[in-house]
Amino acid sequence: MIKIPYSIKAADDVINRYKINEPPVDLNVIVKNNGIRLIYKDFPDDVSGVLKINENKECTIYVNESHCEERQRFTIAHELGHYFLHKKTGVHVDKHFYYRNKKSSEAIIKEEIDANKFAAELLIPSKFIHNYLKKYDENSLLDEDIITQLANKFKVSVTAMSFKIQNLGYSF
Ligand SMILES: [Zn+2]
Repeated sequence: MIKIPYSIKAADDVINRYKINEPPVDLNVIVKNNGIRLIYKDFPDDVSGVLKINENKECTIYVNESHCEERQRFTIAHELGHYFLHKKTGVHVDKHFYYRNKKSSEAIIKEEIDANKFAAELLIPSKFIHNYLKKYDENSLLDEDIITQLANKFKVSVTAMSFKIQNLGYSF
């Protein structure tokens, strides 16, 4: 039996709960239905986003207003990952050099990896990708044009799309 990581399962549950059935995944539906406030803010370039959950479990996601839309979508999806998976009260800041911060404990790094996995599955649901790629036969290599087209369709970066497709076992 294949064990599906809980971060992937959680993203899949969200996709099903809000009946999202085509790309690009509408993050606003998820944000609104959970009563989350979404605020675009003037952060330094290295800060992608911030998640704030107060004592009453009210949640606010702040996103760097100067980043491109694909990156902002990944940030929102990442913060939603922390929200659905970890639900920790307090303020969580996401900087893109996070993984190089020596002070981070192993547990925190694991939470970041899980939030990233959640984000990648939320924005690029595996079942949607399989659907798009089933027209290519087993031996065909996916070229850059296909990856770029898919990235545009899903409103994610080409890098995020390449990672996801590789993780699913496709080659290019
Ligand atoms: Zn994070």
